[in-house]
Amino acid sequence: MFDVVIVGAGVAGLTAGIFVGRRGLKALIVTKDLGGQTASTSEIENYPGLGRVEGPELIKEFQAQAVQYGCQFSFDEVCAVRQIETHFEVEAGQATHFARSLILAFGKTPRDLDVPGEREFQGRGVSWAIDAKNIEGQDVAVIGGGNSAFEAVLALSSNARKIYLVHRRNEFRGEEILLSRIQACANVEKMTPYAVSAIEGGQRVERLLLEHCETGEQLRLSIQSIFTAIGFEPRAGFLKDFISLDDSNRIIVAPDCSTSRDGVFSAGDITTVPYQQIVISAGEGAKAALSCYSYIMKKRGARPMKVDWGFR
Ligand code: NAP
Repeated sequence: MFDVVIVGAGVAGLTAGIFVGRRGLKALIVTKDLGGQTASTSEIENYPGLGRVEGPELIKEFQAQAVQYGCQFSFDEVCAVRQIETHFEVEAGQATHFARSLILAFGKTPRDLDVPGEREFQGRGVSWAIDAKNIEGQDVAVIGGGNSAFEAVLALSSNARKIYLVHRRNEFRGEEILLSRIQACANVEKMTPYAVSAIEGGQRVERLLLEHCETGEQLRLSIQSIFTAIGFEPRAGFLKDFISLDDSNRIIVAPDCSTSRDGVFSAGDITTVPYQQIVISAGEGAKAALSCYSYIMKKRGARPMKVDWGFR
């Protein structure tokens, strides 16, 4: 029996692990992968105090710190969660884990384009994970108009021969500072407003079919790799009978990261807290951990943490 099972090992989950570990709680992190969205972010420039850091490097540090404070890890996708009287059961793969409390921090899942060929060529030229090493000399397309798409373009620009940045509107959603860097890359061509209508190829992806969103003009680009960066969506639907979710399937949390069920806390991109930034997820993960610690202390009959803004 763990004091807490943390679901997800992105920034929020790992930070929660560090904080509950330092408080002496017995914690298990159950996760299908390590690092979530941060692990596929090439360069992070807005995590205070670190200047410029690569996502995978930052995640390695987070994990090492969680391990240092005693967190255990189990790599599997959680498929069900339930409460049996005073404890919780978490099903993942063949295993069932038992805990006195839960912190749900499993982030979001990359959104699908939902066009013919996308599934067929997944892993054979179509991917959402940026891999700059394997595209040397290729013509590639990045789909999307947000920060993830911008970062993908910048990460790929020195290895690709040519990059098409395909976006369905003329205005981009991503930050101006990144866009201005893209504009300085001679091998990037912006294709707007274009929607992807199909992905074609043989053994691997070979062509991208586009349709102009205003004129309906059809276009066929010859490319060897496609990176989809069209955002992430919350997939917490499997919890709908367990805790309260909003209309977009995000977990509704109070300011202390508690959910509608006693003993269940949540943090990071899967929650209703706005602005998906690494520093925010880290802060929320810490908050969920402290609330969880307080909950466990109360259950043990010990003094709970003093909540300094006094709403509880
Ligand atoms: P995002 O900001 O939601 O952008 C997704 C983009 O994909 C949008 O431009 C959207 O178009 C487009 N899109 C969505 N569905 C589409 C579809 N079916 N077909 C074609 N295009 C589609 O997602 P994100 O770029 O992954 O960023 C997610 C969050 O993480 C944001 O809050 C972002 O700021 C943050 N983030 C921050 C950093 C950083 O600070 N360095 C880096 C990466 C991500 P529309 O614009 O038309 O909706």
